[in-house]
Amino acid sequence: MEYIIGAHMPITGGLWKSAERAKELGFRAFQIFTRNPRGWSYPELSEKEAEEFVSATEGFISVNSHMPYLPNLASPNEETFEKSVESLIEEMKRAKKLKIKYIVAHVGSHLGAGIEAGKERVRKAVSRALESVSCDCHVLLENMAGQKNSVGSRFEDLGDIIRGINDDRVGVCFDTCHAFAAGYDIATRTGLKRTMDELDKHVGLRRIMLIHLNDSKGGLASGLDRHERIGKGFIGRKGFENFLGARELIEGRPMILETPVNDYHEYADDYRVLQEIIRKAKA
Ligand SMILES: [Zn+2]
Repeated sequence: MEYIIGAHMPITGGLWKSAERAKELGFRAFQIFTRNPRGWSYPELSEKEAEEFVSATEGFISVNSHMPYLPNLASPNEETFEKSVESLIEEMKRAKKLKIKYIVAHVGSHLGAGIEAGKERVRKAVSRALESVSCDCHVLLENMAGQKNSVGSRFEDLGDIIRGINDDRVGVCFDTCHAFAAGYDIATRTGLKRTMDELDKHVGLRRIMLIHLNDSKGGLASGLDRHERIGKGFIGRKGFENFLGARELIEGRPMILETPVNDYHEYADDYRVLQEIIRKAKA
């Protein structure tokens, strides 16, 4: 089985530098924020920046972007909701210029308005964005960790949203830490089997287009979105050995590390651990 591994790369010093960094670590895939993720406003992307990035990413199998932190596609607040939809549209326009195919978006929080209202918001938000921008970019909804008021921690909810949008450009990014924290025990053989069955039943495996590989600082069903370095959390080495054997889920799908590193060079440690685990999983 082929494993396509990469990581979330910093864009400090220019977008194109993220590709150089990924190359330096031997990755064939990576993910970036296309702008500062901590604000609503940011400078426009210049033609030159886009060209530099596109040429630096030549040879990569998969280049992905992650939505910034502030947008909440499930927000019941009209103003936040409108700004969030606008952010997603802008991100799609940037992705088009940067030739990025997949945009990962956290499904969001209904802030107490209820799960049904939250799902309806997300459906509306993603549908509007997909209608507004004509491009091959896909919006990948990321499963959440089961935090209070979160939308999209359960595969049933992701499935409902996706069926409501009914567009081939919507998919799912499966995050190992979030799934585990939401109560899907991917660390054990029976738990993984059940998780895969549910994922296939409610979402459909073909909709899973990207994987986020993170260990979890919180235990099973803890509801905590706290990433950990691979092998050091509650999923653990044994758990990843189990998970990485799930051929139907992993084959051909890029896997992106979002582990808590102080410096991107530290991803090399996670990568080395993963390679050891893969060797064992194959044996
Ligand atoms: Zn993630």
